[in-house]
Amino acid sequence: MSKQSLLSIIVPCYNEEESLPLFYAEITRVTAEMQQKYPELTFEYLFIDDGSKDHTLEGLRKLVKQDKRVRYLSFSRNFGKEAGIYAGLSHAKGDYCVVMDADLQHPPKFLPEMYEAVKSGEYDCATTRRVSRKGESKIRSWFARLFYKIMNKISQTEIVDGAQDFRFMTRQMVDAVLSMSEYNRFSKGIFSWVGFRVKYLEYENVERVAGTTAWSFWGLFRYSIEGIIGFSTAPLGISVLLGLVSCLIAVIVIIGTIIKKFLFGEPVDGYPTLICSLYFLGGLQLFCTGILGTYLSKTYLEVKHRPIYLVRETDENADTFTQTPASKESDKPED
Ligand code: UDP
Ligand code: MG
Repeated sequence: MSKQSLLSIIVPCYNEEESLPLFYAEITRVTAEMQQKYPELTFEYLFIDDGSKDHTLEGLRKLVKQDKRVRYLSFSRNFGKEAGIYAGLSHAKGDYCVVMDADLQHPPKFLPEMYEAVKSGEYDCATTRRVSRKGESKIRSWFARLFYKIMNKISQTEIVDGAQDFRFMTRQMVDAVLSMSEYNRFSKGIFSWVGFRVKYLEYENVERVAGTTAWSFWGLFRYSIEGIIGFSTAPLGISVLLGLVSCLIAVIVIIGTIIKKFLFGEPVDGYPTLICSLYFLGGLQLFCTGILGTYLSKTYLEVKHRPIYLVRETDENADTFTQTPASKESDKPED
């Protein structure tokens, strides 16, 4: 067949020294099979070392030496998976790009099916959707479901429950994602916001092959707030509504008090009523100011135009880092 197409496989890695060799073995096995089936395909593997504190970077340097298709970027510190995805997509050269995790929770065996879907021209993107959350704690799954429910009620951007960052995309869609250069990145929202035709492949959740998840419960909570703030302004509307409702209640209470006093001559309730309304209104005001403040803080970070990530080392200048005796891990700048 005709034209050659390059598929960039983008893999953000944070402390993945144990998973990396397993991932590399599996991905090269799958891509070798794909190469047989689709001779028009060539591959590049682009690993993003997100400031790992273990030996992930050494592992990547080794891979680059043994396989010319491997490239890597190493960040100056941990910038988060979202920054890793953005950096990977910005540096990928492929006609198609796929973003996947290093822990084999995004099984490479889906790649041929994804490629078929996108190649047919019917879809611009293929992704997986977990139909179960096997291996995840009950409470975590419950919160995750609640998040998707709330999110889809209050946001115009649809976030599919169980959809993942395992995305196989055409160059056109990659460019669309890159055009969204916001600092507060919430990929699930971004992928959905850009639109295009997406094919969902369903599968049962797989557990991590090695290592541990980098996400704590609070990390996920903060991430969901990021999603809500980034893709919905409903909380601002809710705070306006709460303000209006409390005004209405106040008017009713005032009228009631006047009637009681002047029509029936009953004494006006004193201290307890006062304390209750004081706490209620104080809390409500703080809550609404908090919502406003959260939007403001995100805007503040956005207008600073800070870079989304900083690269300390790439495969192109790896020699500079491996050969100098001063290349100790401890000389990384910390802020
Ligand atoms: N990851 C990253 N930077 C981070 C945290 C995670 O690049 O700060 C990578 C990680 O190496 C993995 C992927 O993002 O390839 C998913 O992370 P993890 O498995 O910890 O998340 P989970 O699968 O539990 O959602
Ligand atoms: Mg994982």
